[in-house]
Amino acid sequence: MTVNRRFLLAHRPHGTPVPEDFALVEQPVPAAPQGGFVVRNCYASLDPAQRGWMDDAPSYMPPIPLGDPVRATTIGVVSESRSPDFAVGDWVLGLNGLEDYSVNHAGGFTMKVDTSIVDSPSRFLSAMGAVGLTAYFGLVDVAKPQPGETLLVSGAAGAVGSAVGQIGKIMGARVIGIAGGPDKCRRLIEDYGFDVAIDYKGKSVDQLAAEIRVAAPGGADVVFENVGGDVMDAELLNLAKHARIVLCGLISEYNSPTRIGIRNLWQVLAQQATIHGYLIMDYVPRFTEGGAVMADWMAQGRLRIDEDVQHGLENAYAIFMRLFSGANTGKLVLKIADGL
Ligand code: NDP
Repeated sequence: MTVNRRFLLAHRPHGTPVPEDFALVEQPVPAAPQGGFVVRNCYASLDPAQRGWMDDAPSYMPPIPLGDPVRATTIGVVSESRSPDFAVGDWVLGLNGLEDYSVNHAGGFTMKVDTSIVDSPSRFLSAMGAVGLTAYFGLVDVAKPQPGETLLVSGAAGAVGSAVGQIGKIMGARVIGIAGGPDKCRRLIEDYGFDVAIDYKGKSVDQLAAEIRVAAPGGADVVFENVGGDVMDAELLNLAKHARIVLCGLISEYNSPTRIGIRNLWQVLAQQATIHGYLIMDYVPRFTEGGAVMADWMAQGRLRIDEDVQHGLENAYAIFMRLFSGANTGKLVLKIADGL
């Protein structure tokens, strides 16, 4: 291929992104810089966090500059190298962009991966990547659920949430998941082994809180929060004393032009709970350790990680929006190419 298709951020979205916020352009394939290399991107991770990176707002990473490709974690093959450490044909994982080819400069954040140990390279974006490990370290290192404790998970049928629930079961917790729609709730029980599944769709905060109360009469000892908004407000009405809340994500707010906020924060005080703002970035040095445990659990059939692999850079906008309609059925991955 001689053309580099690039999915650029053309405008900062106001609320829900629209197709005009992006532009697909064709440019020449870049050359490897001195000491660096070029990656042929094969799979890209599509994550709710990318929506936040599109805003010009204070965050843990700078905003994506307008006119740059949408930032994404990708796995691909080195197609040209002027680096002593990377050879043509090496599979690498790194923070790149939604584009066919990405330039990597010397000293950048890219690591070689051994794709022979997985059934698909995309596994490094799901189970063995930041998403699976968000669930792993968020429970094992932050929440530390004890056997018999009640773990309440929102966004439970998604990539992070489904792994959180299953790891919670492995750790001996009783797991309640909140997800959108009967089909996802069925999957929570049948595919992921949750104890209770609650459908949040079309319910008021009070209705949802009442359903959680039936499922967890003593309250939740651990809340793994992926959603925020009304769902979190209902959860806060069901905290056990000294509950631990892992604040992992607030997806219900990402497309809101104004911040929605939480109304039942008083419950944190009333139940002497703690809220722990949690980012997987802190755990990058421990990815190999966590990935080995996840791989082991999967090999034993104790952990199931589903992927929703969708095809075509030209479809990036519509595929990205699956995260916000709830259409994704597992870790959302964009397949760009097979290899070199
Ligand atoms: P998912 O696979 O869970 O996909 C997103 C899901 O969110 C959708 O399928 C949908 O499920 C749900 N959703 C979307 N909009 C809403 C809404 N308005 N209200 C309620 N639910 C909604 O994505 P991920 O697993 O990748 O991410 C899950 C969360 O984890 C996100 O908040 C993300 O930002 C966070 N995260 C945080 C990390 C960290 O380091 N802190 C790292 C990785 C992810 P449904 O059909 O059930 O509504």
